[in-house]
Amino acid sequence: MLIRIVSAPCVSAYLNLDHHFVELGEVAAHLRDRAGHEVRVVDGVLPEVTWDTVVEEALHATGLVVLHVTLDNTLETARTIRLLRQLSPGTRIALYGRGAYHLRRLFQRTDADWIVLEQDWEPALAEIAAQVAAGAEPGPVPGTLTRTAGTWTRGPAGVRLAGDWELPALDLLPVAGYARLPADESYPGREPERELAVGVSRGCDSYCGYCPIPDVMGRHEYFRTGLDTLAGYLRAARESHGYTAVSLFGANFTAHRDYVHDFCARVGTPRTGVTWKCVTSHAELDPPLLGEMAAAGCTRVAVGVESLLPDGRNRFSGRVGAERLADLGAWCAAEGVLLICFVMVGLPGQTRHEVAVTLDTVRAAGAVPRPMTYVDYRRLAAAEDFADVFWANRKTVSEPFGRGILSMRDTALAVHSWEHWLDTVGPAAGRTSGERPAAAPRRPAQ
Ligand code: SF4
Repeated sequence: MLIRIVSAPCVSAYLNLDHHFVELGEVAAHLRDRAGHEVRVVDGVLPEVTWDTVVEEALHATGLVVLHVTLDNTLETARTIRLLRQLSPGTRIALYGRGAYHLRRLFQRTDADWIVLEQDWEPALAEIAAQVAAGAEPGPVPGTLTRTAGTWTRGPAGVRLAGDWELPALDLLPVAGYARLPADESYPGREPERELAVGVSRGCDSYCGYCPIPDVMGRHEYFRTGLDTLAGYLRAARESHGYTAVSLFGANFTAHRDYVHDFCARVGTPRTGVTWKCVTSHAELDPPLLGEMAAAGCTRVAVGVESLLPDGRNRFSGRVGAERLADLGAWCAAEGVLLICFVMVGLPGQTRHEVAVTLDTVRAAGAVPRPMTYVDYRRLAAAEDFADVFWANRKTVSEPFGRGILSMRDTALAVHSWEHWLDTVGPAAGRTSGERPAAAPRRPAQ
């Protein structure tokens, strides 16, 4: 059976191609390589994918259409469901993705047949595909909501693959189009990389109130198995597509030291020719581990800082304080690893002073802040209109899904142009340093 996986066209507020490599690419690979279907991917994040493209797909759709729902394209997904129902009434429609999870209440008002809620998405979609291929009426599927005779029914608990995930199917993804999109990150003094992303873990054992990961990806972090397969995949991706770097998509890459040792030994740059970056917690990093990672080709590490109080403590227990952040910055600089710090702007009760202190402290540590807008994602479940979802993203503005005391203009400026914002707030906001530290030195080629 031919399965169309469609991410409805939209203008992104927050373009993060990691989501597309992982959420589209790994699901497409599973449905083709494990479930045995023909798969076609249409990714509306590309400007050349228009509504004409969607109508064309809808006119030819049969069997199953799987709609990938991000937080950028919920309104457009609802429109796509309507188009499919009008143009190919017999087609079955399944929704998955973080937008499907957060907006499950609104999507139950549409004519979709299934809403996949739980990770891992792939077994649920494979079961749905099996039902459609057999010509059966939609029936309950683990980890999903199923619509039968106009009523939505929750299936049993979802199935976890526990790290046994496919790698993104580069031959199914529009990777040439991805390469033409503007990079969502660039760093002074560093050559832009040709980068792909693979999922290295899913879920998180923590539950930070500002973060949707545990709800969307699961309350336990599973790590990818099959590291030799990953190494071979990266070597092939470099040869076939010229990729020079990989983003390891996951919450806490260094949560298990043995896993990092194993990864460095089996997937390091000496074996693949591809450098890598990861996200983790400051508590899981130290100089020997960073040295091992850098020697294995790690060029960037990102940690959550969120918000520092003027006395240097973190607003959140367990998050990094100013003193340790300075140490972390020094360790990374010594290894030539770029330290990226996620900063949350617009938290409840957070003042301009606190944001300025946070950005200045990150900068003084030789790290690069990546400020993002605080959004209370859990409020999305009560949204009454798909159009409202635009206001819940990390890069534009967050009203009415924020609860902060900063003005929307302050929040947007700090997120879009933090250095300019720091200049505008000046010493009155309690800046600790106006000097910019030297950039981290590049590590010599291995
Ligand atoms: S912020 Fe990081 S540690 Fe906290 S729940 Fe999200 S992924 Fe987990």
